[in-house]
Amino acid sequence: MASLANFFSQMFSKNENIPEAELIKKPGTGNLKPDINAHKPDQAWSKLKNQQNMANVASLKPGMPMREDRIRFVCISDTHAQLERGAPLEIPQGDVLIHAGDLTMSGEPREVAIVNKYLGTLPHKHKIVIAGNHDMTFDSEFMANKHKSRFFTFDSNDSYQQDLAKYGVKHIQNMLSNCTYIEDSMVQIYGINIYGSPWTVGSGSWGFQRARGSGIVSIWNQIPTNTDILITHMPPLGYGDSVQGTLSVARLKPLFGIPPMGLKDHVGCVDLLRTVQSRVKPTLHVYGHIHEGYGMRTDGTTTFVNASMCTLKYRPINPPLVFDFPLPPGVTKQDFMDSPLKWVIPTECGEDYELVGENEAEGRCGDIDNRVDKNTKGAGESYDDNNVEFVDEDKATGAEGSVDNSDCDVDEADAAGRECSQ
Ligand SMILES: [Zn+2]
Repeated sequence: MASLANFFSQMFSKNENIPEAELIKKPGTGNLKPDINAHKPDQAWSKLKNQQNMANVASLKPGMPMREDRIRFVCISDTHAQLERGAPLEIPQGDVLIHAGDLTMSGEPREVAIVNKYLGTLPHKHKIVIAGNHDMTFDSEFMANKHKSRFFTFDSNDSYQQDLAKYGVKHIQNMLSNCTYIEDSMVQIYGINIYGSPWTVGSGSWGFQRARGSGIVSIWNQIPTNTDILITHMPPLGYGDSVQGTLSVARLKPLFGIPPMGLKDHVGCVDLLRTVQSRVKPTLHVYGHIHEGYGMRTDGTTTFVNASMCTLKYRPINPPLVFDFPLPPGVTKQDFMDSPLKWVIPTECGEDYELVGENEAEGRCGDIDNRVDKNTKGAGESYDDNNVEFVDEDKATGAEGSVDNSDCDVDEADAAGRECSQ
């Protein structure tokens, strides 16, 4: 197990002596081609695992005093609107809360309202949030084709619009008034570049999904090389990406009569791992999606954080994962009081929206109804799914496999068809 001292020194080395201006250099992008085993994650891992220098990393104990020269990050993911039910786990104090997606079960406005209210009760100065596959309503492309999904719960676009109207917004993202929502975009906090992307591999029956291979690689190639903390909903291959059962169990059950225990399949993305390890090399990579993969690991360069709070059965019992990010020598939090959050790559808001302000409350797409309003539309004007642009063109809409919310969505005929509903 890597010592905490080593962990801190890894954090420290990334930003040491780098002037702030350097951190806002023009973002680099990638030209990675899909791995030859992009569609076969188990085979891909068999080839790569012996090259990995993986070690577990312990989360910082929540009671540790916070310091002026270190930024405390508290990581959560896959809360699925469950924290607000019953007695939630305590969320530790920190400077920045990161949520790596799946705020909700299906992205319904009533869920988003509950989540936003809950986020508003948390003490962190900054709360950085991405969506996940369950947060379907955040994906405009999905919403335009929602008739293809059997998970969408609204009767019609009208009923969805009426639901949004109850909350005074026309755009679901604008319900998140108590956090900063990022989507294939980057913010800088305390000089630390944080990039977030909601995409996972899958057939498109959930939100923000692309096929393994060239579909998802085009997303990962957009991640800027100067990312210090990467947030994705998708786990990289091998680092907290195993699911129990699925293909191996389906294949072996006839031989043993019962599902063999302990068999696990990798479902992470090899091309995300390659992007992280060969090009971006962030200090931290935070994600979720595969609930069973909860935990922190390091490869010696990047610390990988699967922050899934919910179990496979959607019980939110995994504690938040906490770490301190040291600032460069002589720099303290006070040095950033005048500019606490900067947009480096703004979230794409579409032509009728614009990004407003720099601070936590305003640094997101301005709502055209009840917030800063530069392009006013008339009340009652219909919502246009096409107002939000997306960056890629070939989102997969392949055949759906069988789905059980408590397990992975498996195409038993071919491991390439594997996707996960988590
Ligand atoms: Zn989940």
